[in-house]
Amino acid sequence: MIKNFNYFVPIKLVFGNGALAQAGEQVASFGKKAMIVTTGNLFNENGLVGRVKAILQKAGVASIHFSDVDPNPLHTQIDAGASLAKSENVDVFIGLGGGSAIDAAKGMAVARGHDRPIWDFCIGDDVKEITDKTFPIVAITTTSGTGSEATQWAVITNPDTGEKPGIGGDYSFARVAIVDPELMTSLPPKITASTGFDVLAHAIEAYTSTLSTPVTDMMCEKAMRLVGKYLRRAVKNGEDREARNGMAFANTMAGFGIAVGIVTVCHGLGHSIGGVVGTTHGETLAAMTPQTMRFSMKANPDKFKNIGMFLRDEYINIGQYQLEDSVKEVESLIKDIGLNNGLASLGVKEEHIEKIADGVINYMGGSIEIDPMDLNKDDLIKIIKQSM
Ligand code: NAD
Repeated sequence: MIKNFNYFVPIKLVFGNGALAQAGEQVASFGKKAMIVTTGNLFNENGLVGRVKAILQKAGVASIHFSDVDPNPLHTQIDAGASLAKSENVDVFIGLGGGSAIDAAKGMAVARGHDRPIWDFCIGDDVKEITDKTFPIVAITTTSGTGSEATQWAVITNPDTGEKPGIGGDYSFARVAIVDPELMTSLPPKITASTGFDVLAHAIEAYTSTLSTPVTDMMCEKAMRLVGKYLRRAVKNGEDREARNGMAFANTMAGFGIAVGIVTVCHGLGHSIGGVVGTTHGETLAAMTPQTMRFSMKANPDKFKNIGMFLRDEYINIGQYQLEDSVKEVESLIKDIGLNNGLASLGVKEEHIEKIADGVINYMGGSIEIDPMDLNKDDLIKIIKQSM
């Protein structure tokens, strides 16, 4: 029996090798002047920003480039981008990069549209709602990755408070997601591994979340099969076009999964650790996913058993695999892609643990509410300690 559900992901997806060439016509339908948002100047140096500018110009769209964004974008950088966009009369925002660039572009489109600081939409008793005043966003993803091109979420860091909430609503989806796997061949192995693991974490969490739907289950299953088949290959040889293509599709499928199924305890902890310690997102998730799986799997054994089967790209589990085999499959992938490091090696210390657990409860509470397992603060502390 198919359960009742709602599914809403209002994005035009332009997928495939060479898809970048369509950026001009896509952006032109939203405005005449674009702001291209990147993390740093790498894409200036390798010519990608120049390529995008030329494609836009051909379609009659002028553009400016904003590169002062950190991996894990800061709220102050988003406000600075929104303010420049106002003075330059920008009418459409392009996130060109991984999750950090795309999330920053989303944040700027929200802040600019409502003419107020982005932190007003993040945390506090008087959090503002994201409305249709948000400026149009086009996401061009260069990692596979966060799935940000396919979600309403933007993850924003406040270094003063050590908080890193995910915000989003019906009006913060990109209008168009351009997913061109050729843009991902320049990703170094370490970033391929950490961003690729994020894809798996999304797929596992959205698949097992209490908000999962039959539609997101299909997407998450596809994402897990593709990660199992292609992530090792993409890490080993960045020029492996078939592997890049498979990972790019996995990324977007898992993104569609978390747009509706959202994420569970591992991401809740991952955000809080990122806010407190400033760790790389995918590495943090790799350090914790095995323990969070062990913690939650008894609450939904059928689904957790499937995870190993999907990663092996098999179709029937005739009882030969047990729950722990799924965790072992994930651990073997983590080892093969070189991310088998505990939280301690990423900089998490005993003295951070309390603040990390409080952060999850204070602003990532949704992630534990929709985890299949009931969790409290003591459980969070236990998971962190077991993942050290
Ligand atoms: P990232 O965007 O921070 O990029 C990591 C590094 O890779 C950067 O230095 C970037 O310049 C470089 N890079 C990107 N593409 C490249 C390419 N093709 N070639 C060479 N270098 C390249 O990494 P990410 O993992 O994609 O994003 C992480 C951020 O996204 C975190 O802040 C995380 O919390 C957030 N996030 C957002 C969502 C969402 O739904 N919006 C989901 C999960 C995570």
